[in-house]
Amino acid sequence: MLTLLTRFHLYITRVLLNVNIGVRLFALMGLAAFVSLLLTLAGMWGLAASRDSLRSVYENRMPALQQLADISTLMLNNQRLLLKALSEINIEASEERRGILVMNKASALIAADAIKKNIASIESVWRSYMSSALSDSERTLANQFEKSRDTYLNEALLPAVVSLRDANYAKTQILSIQTYTLYNQASPHLQALIQHQFDTSQLAYSTGLKRYSNMRLVAYVALGMAIFLMSWLGVILTASIVNPLKQVIAVFNNISGGRYDSRITIAGRDEISEVMAALQSMQSKLGEDELAIHQLAFYDQLTNLPNRRLLRDRLQRAVSISTRSHQFGGVLMIDLDNFKSINDTLGHDVGDLFLQEIALRVQSCLRQSDTVARLGGDEFVVLLVDLSQHEAQAAMQAEEVGEKILTAINQPFMLANQLQHGSASMGLCLFRGQNFSIDELFKRADIAMYQAKNNGRNNLRFYDPKIQDSLEARIALETELHAALTENQLRLYYQIQVDHVRGVLGAEVLLRWMHPKHGLVFPDQFIPIAEESGLIVPIGEWVLRTACAQLKSWSKNPATSNFILSVNVSARQFRQPDFVADVCKVVAQTGANPQRLKLELTESLVLHNIADTTDKMNKLNGQGIHFSMDDFGTGYSSLAHLTNLPIQELKIDRSFMRNITTKHRDAVIVQAIIDLAKSLGIAVIAEGVESEEQRICLERFGCQSYQGYLFGKPMPLEDFEKLSRSDHAVIRNTAGDLALAI
Ligand code: C2E
Ligand code: MG
Ligand code: MG
Repeated sequence: MLTLLTRFHLYITRVLLNVNIGVRLFALMGLAAFVSLLLTLAGMWGLAASRDSLRSVYENRMPALQQLADISTLMLNNQRLLLKALSEINIEASEERRGILVMNKASALIAADAIKKNIASIESVWRSYMSSALSDSERTLANQFEKSRDTYLNEALLPAVVSLRDANYAKTQILSIQTYTLYNQASPHLQALIQHQFDTSQLAYSTGLKRYSNMRLVAYVALGMAIFLMSWLGVILTASIVNPLKQVIAVFNNISGGRYDSRITIAGRDEISEVMAALQSMQSKLGEDELAIHQLAFYDQLTNLPNRRLLRDRLQRAVSISTRSHQFGGVLMIDLDNFKSINDTLGHDVGDLFLQEIALRVQSCLRQSDTVARLGGDEFVVLLVDLSQHEAQAAMQAEEVGEKILTAINQPFMLANQLQHGSASMGLCLFRGQNFSIDELFKRADIAMYQAKNNGRNNLRFYDPKIQDSLEARIALETELHAALTENQLRLYYQIQVDHVRGVLGAEVLLRWMHPKHGLVFPDQFIPIAEESGLIVPIGEWVLRTACAQLKSWSKNPATSNFILSVNVSARQFRQPDFVADVCKVVAQTGANPQRLKLELTESLVLHNIADTTDKMNKLNGQGIHFSMDDFGTGYSSLAHLTNLPIQELKIDRSFMRNITTKHRDAVIVQAIIDLAKSLGIAVIAEGVESEEQRICLERFGCQSYQGYLFGKPMPLEDFEKLSRSDHAVIRNTAGDLALAI
């Protein structure tokens, strides 16, 4: 039964959910109105039943009862009138009737008239009674009474009226007795009729009462059922509105809390179901948008790998976990060695494909728990977690993964129908706990990666703290170098250049930095920084301007007017588009003789962009400026190119000097360089000459110009000028010509 009711309840609930809420409310209200109407009708019907009962008792039965009672009264009254007339008697005094009882005539007549009237009333009341609607049983009783009444009237009462008129006492007395007897015979019939009225009334009353009770029961049951039905429907209706609304609220709360996975049940087809459906699509749209936003915010669009932001997040978490687990983790910075050239030569689309392929390959080398992220460009970072608790073992594990990645990247790629070979430089740093900040970890891996790059690329390096110290010092130096120019901390040192009889040819100007804290800083420590930061351009200009100004100053003195100054030019400086114009401007502004100016270029610089180099050198050469090939012998020494360049001097690198007297190989190279220069008609100078043996050896090979500690270290101007005036330095006076030993 219970299951049946539950099923019914569920069925109605389901049906209701398929009906609009408006229709549902309207139906409920309609039902309420219908039930109220039914109850009202039932009440009215009950009242009508009561009224019928009352009418049947009071309106139908009471007049008949009254008539019968009147007849009874009238009949009794007749008896009383007869008795009264009989009681008023006289005793006859006349002789013949002496002793006979004689009625009072007047009283007898009054009684006779009264009885006559009563008879007429009885007649009239009876007729009226008989003319009313009588039931069969009542009519049977009435007929019985009518018969006994007629006997009573005709056989006793009417004769009694006659005898009363006659004032006949004896007859009246006899008839009175007869009347009484017949009255007694008729009276039970009348009583039966009266009783019948009572019985009928009783029946009508009890029927009415019963109908009323039944009606009341029906009303109670109907009311109870109506209350139950209305409450039940109300509950279902409320539930059908409130429950989905609760779900809507819950979904909204979840959405505002950033959760888009709420289960939404669309139970029917009503308005709320429509709201639910709209909410469902809104939720899934928001979920998709959120996913897209998440994807945009945390993933690299090209490779779908986590981006820097997500990596930082994961690294932060990995650091926290490692604090608890005491296990090492690793940050592996990957920089592709040849990406730029692939991008430049094959185009960006192919470059993108290459990066996607790299992403897949790196990913395939990792465990699920590890992360590979792309930071941008060709820079990837791998986060390794759950490594060993022992540093050495953790390092081995990390290195193993690194090597695996390197091997994967080294496998050839088929890009744009061409076989490409990838390689990468990787820097690895380990971490355990929160000893270092996230930025510090990135920095360390980055330092290690640069170390791998400097190490010849396509290899993996672990972070080395010493390198970091020097890097930090280098960064600090770069900041300070900015101030060096403006705060006049740069100095030019002059290193004397002499010929085979120690005649002063001039000098090479070498830059020094008088650092306020560190003292004298040598160019090896700051020229590369100046190169990288671009500061070499204004610094180089300052060197050139100072050297030219010095040439100008020397030109006024015959003892120094022939000095030649060699100025080092760095690659970045030379590659400036305005380099030629800038040099010419400085020469013009200072008034220096370009013939006395020599620019030192290195082989690698010259050969990098040979067309640009040739053009610039030719232009400057055209102005009278000479060129010296610095550090010659260490680079590629592309002889073919050398012949096409306006080079006036080869400067044999100082590295050959050390062993020139002892190592046959070095001696042979130096000899070859000198021979080559001779055959090309180019002057030659040896730098780094420290001993007389070396000088003699060089002289023997045919080199007659020298620079080195043997003659003088790089020194301030005053010292150089002093040195050039001193005995051992022979100042050549051959005006105009360069002292080149050919
Ligand atoms: P470089 O042009 O090859 O300069 C010669 C270097 O050899 C100088 O080092 C000099 O002090 C050193 N040297 C000269 N004779 C001897 C010797 O007998 N024995 C030894 N062991 N060394 C000797 P410095 O001054 O430290 O300069 C180093 C490099 O810095 C230069 O090499 C040059 O490439 C660069 N440099 C110096 N000044 C400038 C500059 O003004 N501009 C540019 N772009 N580079 C400069
Ligand atoms: Mg030099
Ligand atoms: Mg050199």
